[in-house]
Amino acid sequence: MTHTDRPTCTVCTRPLWDAERHRYACRPCERRIADHLDQLPDLIHDLHGLLAPGSGRALDGPRTRASSEPQAPIRLHILDRIAAATATLDSWLADWHDHLEWTPPTYRADPFTEAATALRANLPWAVEQHAAVDDFAREIAELHSDATGLLDPARRARRIGHCPAPAADDPTQACGAVLRYVPGATTVTCRWCRTVWDAIDLGVALALAV
Ligand SMILES: [Zn+2]
Ligand SMILES: [Zn+2]
Repeated sequence: MTHTDRPTCTVCTRPLWDAERHRYACRPCERRIADHLDQLPDLIHDLHGLLAPGSGRALDGPRTRASSEPQAPIRLHILDRIAAATATLDSWLADWHDHLEWTPPTYRADPFTEAATALRANLPWAVEQHAAVDDFAREIAELHSDATGLLDPARRARRIGHCPAPAADDPTQACGAVLRYVPGATTVTCRWCRTVWDAIDLGVALALAV
């Protein structure tokens, strides 16, 4: 405690404005944490794309260039980072549920994305009510810079179009999720319907669909 008794943001130590005095973290820090949580699922998704180049299920058709390349081993250090990142988000979400006296979190299909979404949704509560939000902010920032650093900027995923696979709940409609291609990868995986596309065939399909 300083003798001025002016409370400070526990994340960046800036003195809080009068309107922020009930908070543990200032508004700019909340925005930064929110941005990190918004971006993390895409970053982790991109890391999945780098795990095992060329190992995805390809659509029919010979790929002479790909088949002549040696099979790359799975990148264990990336797998470890993904597992650690998922565990970090899960333990924070479980902690928040505990504080809120909610039942422990459960996940349907994609624990990382679902945990990130739930943490993002409850962030306004955490910056006001959770005394350890500074630890949370630091760990989320570390995950973000870790993932960004693992992804070579030249290999950052690009949006290439919308998933043309039939939607699970209505096969007459296309899935429509945004597809992201990591340069150099041989496959593209849809985050919604989990269809794995051969990158070259997908490029042709999207071009024909225009
Ligand atoms: Zn701050
Ligand atoms: Zn899809």
